Amino acid sequence: MPPLTTSISPQKFHQLVFAWFDLNGRKNLPWQQNKSPYRVWISEIMLQQTQVATVIPYFLRFLEKFPDIQALAAAPQDEVLHLWTGLGYYNRARNLHQTAKIIQQQNYFPDELNELENLPGIGRSTAGAILAIAFEKTATILDGNVKRVLTRLMGITEWPGEKKTLDRLWQIAEHLTPKKRIADYTQAMMDLGATVCVRGKPHCSACPLKAACIAHNNGIERTLPRPKPKKIIPTRAVTFLIFKYQDKVLLLKRPPAGVWQGLWSVPEIPGLQSLTQIKKHCKTMTAHSIQTIELGECFRHTFSHFHLDILPVVIHLKKLTPQLNEDAQNIWYNLSHPSAIGLPAPIKKLLSTLTQ
Ligand code: SF4
Repeated sequence: MPPLTTSISPQKFHQLVFAWFDLNGRKNLPWQQNKSPYRVWISEIMLQQTQVATVIPYFLRFLEKFPDIQALAAAPQDEVLHLWTGLGYYNRARNLHQTAKIIQQQNYFPDELNELENLPGIGRSTAGAILAIAFEKTATILDGNVKRVLTRLMGITEWPGEKKTLDRLWQIAEHLTPKKRIADYTQAMMDLGATVCVRGKPHCSACPLKAACIAHNNGIERTLPRPKPKKIIPTRAVTFLIFKYQDKVLLLKRPPAGVWQGLWSVPEIPGLQSLTQIKKHCKTMTAHSIQTIELGECFRHTFSHFHLDILPVVIHLKKLTPQLNEDAQNIWYNLSHPSAIGLPAPIKKLLSTLTQ
């Protein structure tokens, strides 16, 4: 294999990227209209690990409900999480809410890198994107899309998540950041990664950088960026108890720490339980009000650090008992008129099967 080298200068690189952007870049995204730091910030948080097409409807609904920082800061957390339901990575929503409160309190939207980076949920790349797009200040981004483009362009064969490799990528990204047209450049790099230098099989024939791209010129573009070295993650199991009375289902608020914190889920018992064990467990909660118990099919939900095997069990009740009364941590969720609360994706899916 020939040595991995590239000779593209920053000037040539900018020229190619801007020419491509002027013809092909995205210029009509909802957050590019009526541009403001607030709108750019919300879009950047939603776009973390999420594609543009998925984000658009969420962004529009979110902005309709919370048109400005004041509205978001004043909203109950449940409402914020509700509008995030299905988008995943709920910490983003919790941090967004907390950050809105901080910005409202200080009564000014930060426009310096270190100030932005100090806010919950805003890392170096997101801070750079906000500065570049909303404030037109020279700042560097290195989100997933840009990382992919630069890794391939420079033929970096190490896993980009490793600190040494990541530092090198930041250096390259900073070296290539222009002083002019920074908002267009930032958008161009994100678009290039999202539409041309895509994961798996990039569209190199349509890429303005193909002549300089080390990965492409060495035929290794499909193998880069290298995936994280495999780590075996543990498996846990749980039985979900779905207490159903008429068209209502009992939901409990998850504790403020651990998985799905602050979202609403169903009661659960550890492990995949047998019918006898489930009946025994439910007895104290339901007295003699169980009508039937339906065992569902076990399925797997994978978190970043473990797999969770879930056995859903629907317990149909004849009547309610005082042990199942509503309180702040415990509600009867109406399947016909769902309330605006945050639900983890597997719970949302399970509840939708109960209404069919
Ligand atoms: S030539 Fe191909 S691999 Fe290289 S940057 Fe362009 S799309 Fe990505």
